[in-house]
Amino acid sequence: MILGAQMSASGGVWKAFARAEEAGCDTVMVYTKSNRQWKSKPIPEKDVNKFRETAATYTGNVDPMVVHAAYLINVASDKPEVVAKSAVALRDEIERAELLGIERLVFHPGSHMGAGEEAGLAKVAAALKQVIADTPGYQVRVCLETMAGQGTNLGHRFEHLGYLLTEIDAPERMGVCFDTCHVFTAGYDIRTPAAYSETMAQFDEIVGLDQIKCFHFNDSKFDLGTRKDRHQHIGRGFLGEQAFANFVNDPRWQHHPAHLETPKTEKDDDGNETEMDAVNLATLRRLIV
Ligand SMILES: [Zn+2]
Repeated sequence: MILGAQMSASGGVWKAFARAEEAGCDTVMVYTKSNRQWKSKPIPEKDVNKFRETAATYTGNVDPMVVHAAYLINVASDKPEVVAKSAVALRDEIERAELLGIERLVFHPGSHMGAGEEAGLAKVAAALKQVIADTPGYQVRVCLETMAGQGTNLGHRFEHLGYLLTEIDAPERMGVCFDTCHVFTAGYDIRTPAAYSETMAQFDEIVGLDQIKCFHFNDSKFDLGTRKDRHQHIGRGFLGEQAFANFVNDPRWQHHPAHLETPKTEKDDDGNETEMDAVNLATLRRLIV
């Protein structure tokens, strides 16, 4: 697998490459705009050029890159004005990724806010159909993330993703980002080789394994089926090392990128800070047999 982490794009998206290399990443995921703001300035042309030049110099070293869409976006909201704002923000995320030449955009399906799963999913499908129709010929693929199912979050059942991908019916523009922590707390076991095989077979039947375009590798602070979204360092949570060994040794994922979204640093009792991406990546690489 191609292993990496989410990296800060502060000061310019191209700066994420050097940060990723320093942490020992072979791939990197970024946010191209502030995660908690609706509006952001367009990326200036000189920054786009700088990004493309930097990306070219890192090819084969830190590559490929994935963009994560802002958390604020909720096309499943029960409030029409939030749906409208979210549709604009989603379009903007797609435009930014396309401009940078990044092919995968990880996207949270959204939260139905009490209107019910069916109503929420129908809104997500409608919004994605619209944005895909409005961006013909684009390379960016929207990768629906598997969610933990906190609150009224959609996407924690494989059936949700299966429904959305079938309904949207744009295989060249859609996909899935498989988050290990979220799938596990959503209730699907992946800890043993047998449980992993069973869960992946279920995913294949309901969604299709070929829909998986990238992974988030996170251990979990909470147990199976708790529907909680709290990431832990690799091997130190309820998933444990074997869960990750199941993924990194599965030849089907040999060319897939996987990104850590685990805490960046850890302090010991003396207040010394350790950069944890390198530690987590080393753990993952050690598990490859
Ligand atoms: Zn996410």
